[in-house]
Amino acid sequence: MTQLTKKIFLSIITVSFIAVTIAIFLLTGVSYNYTADTAANNLRQNCSIISSAVEESGGRFLNVTDFGELRVTWISSSGRVIFDSAKDPEQLDDHSGRQEIEEAINSGEGESERYSDTLMTKTINHAHRLSDGSVIRVSDVQKSFPALLLRNLQPLAVMLTILALCSFASAILISRHIVRPINNIDLDHPKTEKSYKELAPLLKKLRKQNGRVNKQMIELKQSREQFSLITESMSEGLIVADQKANILTSNTSAYSLLGAEKSNDSHTVFSLCQTEQFRRCIQDAMGGRRSECLISTEKGDRKVIASPANSHDTVNGIVVFVLDVTEQQQLETMRREFTSNVSHELKTPLTTIYGISDMLANGMVKPEDVGSLSSDIRNEADRLITLINDIVSLSKLDENTAPRQDEEVDLYDLASDIISRLKLSADEKNVTAELTGDHVTVYGSRTILDEVLYNLCDNAIKYNNEGGSFTVKISHIPMKAIITVSDTGAGIPETHLGRIFERFYRVDKSRSRKIKGTGLGLSIVKHGVGYHGGTVRAESIVGKGTTFTVELPIEKKRN
Ligand code: ADP
Repeated sequence: MTQLTKKIFLSIITVSFIAVTIAIFLLTGVSYNYTADTAANNLRQNCSIISSAVEESGGRFLNVTDFGELRVTWISSSGRVIFDSAKDPEQLDDHSGRQEIEEAINSGEGESERYSDTLMTKTINHAHRLSDGSVIRVSDVQKSFPALLLRNLQPLAVMLTILALCSFASAILISRHIVRPINNIDLDHPKTEKSYKELAPLLKKLRKQNGRVNKQMIELKQSREQFSLITESMSEGLIVADQKANILTSNTSAYSLLGAEKSNDSHTVFSLCQTEQFRRCIQDAMGGRRSECLISTEKGDRKVIASPANSHDTVNGIVVFVLDVTEQQQLETMRREFTSNVSHELKTPLTTIYGISDMLANGMVKPEDVGSLSSDIRNEADRLITLINDIVSLSKLDENTAPRQDEEVDLYDLASDIISRLKLSADEKNVTAELTGDHVTVYGSRTILDEVLYNLCDNAIKYNNEGGSFTVKISHIPMKAIITVSDTGAGIPETHLGRIFERFYRVDKSRSRKIKGTGLGLSIVKHGVGYHGGTVRAESIVGKGTTFTVELPIEKKRN
């Protein structure tokens, strides 16, 4: 039962109870009065009949008549009791002072009522004066009003119970009937005609407010959709959370970058990543301090920036950005490795040069060794120059900032030129070179393409066997020029093949030491080919030889 129904129900029950109780009292009162009036009339008539009978036949009538419940008393004009149907007249005192007797003696008729509280009775008396001055009084005992109520208590209780049950049932029905139209009001679409007229202003206001709320909801939905459209298109992760770190809004990137599953259940920012740095970073932001941290996930390195959203010195929430810094981190690692490698590679020849020159300066070298030691110095200096040249070439390619000075380059002619430049070193090793294919022209940087081809041919000689050979083939397929450099050298084991393009990577350090090299040649090849939008790959069979294949796009001359 709703509160309203209960209230109406109780009101009806209370009102019915009060009404029924008052009605019972009134009805009992009215019927009591009616009964009392009738009894008084009857008493009056009986008194007059008895008086007439005594007038005619004297005291004999009184002695022979049975008066039932009525009490008849004959009193002389002096007040002495001559006859009494209930008691011995001798025992009764003088009656002249009684109100009804006095009235009857004086005016012919007299009446009185006397109540007995203990017996809850009422005695009504009527007196009539006879012609000889004596008085006949007839008395009747009636129940008083409370006694009447008490006597009728049982039927009254039954009646009250029935009425109570009826009013209970009707109260339930009525209260429900009253409340039903209110309960049936459709709060989303309130209609005045289907409800109480009294509620019309309220429903009208409700309808207006509904309209306003609906409009605001649509606007809110639109702006949310717009917001999520923008944030979903971000590659950076974005999380907005309340002051207890419960996520209010987030984009898919945030979950994928942190390697967490997106779920619709409410959860905190902490559930997205379990690392200590992340937890501390979020806690710092919750404490009102902007915080950053680097975390490693299975998918890569992430930078997390957490900022507090403050208003009036209280933190209302936090905004967290998650950035993918894998590439940056890799570049940073590469840069660090490169610097340490460069320092190492520069230090080795310099240490040798320093050591020999120190010995020479201190006169510790025999005259016959001076020649060989000087050639060692030249060799190390040579190595230094090559290294510095390679580093310069690489850093130029790395920077990629210089304006492009591209031109049409005939790869066949370029290869022929390089082979002739390398003839001396090829002859030293008895390596023969062959150039086959077509004149294929690409549009690119002559210097860089020269470096690419030079390094490949140089390696084909350096890592070849004594008396071996290498072939450079220039060919093309639609839109692509293909350069292959194959040699008959020792080959590269499968395990190293994937790493030879890394900076300073050399396959067999002890063997390579005898062969001059910096470990940067193939890095320059890779970068140079990449500069032209091409690809390079190596295939090798250990003991048989290696083939490098370069594919370059053939582009029209750019204007
Ligand atoms: P390097 O200056 O040592 O020649 P590169 O970057 O040119 O450096 O080559 C990296 C490594 O790859 C070399 O040290 C060598 O071990 C291997 N390599 C390159 N070209 C060949 C080849 N044609 N045959 C066998 N090994 C090669």
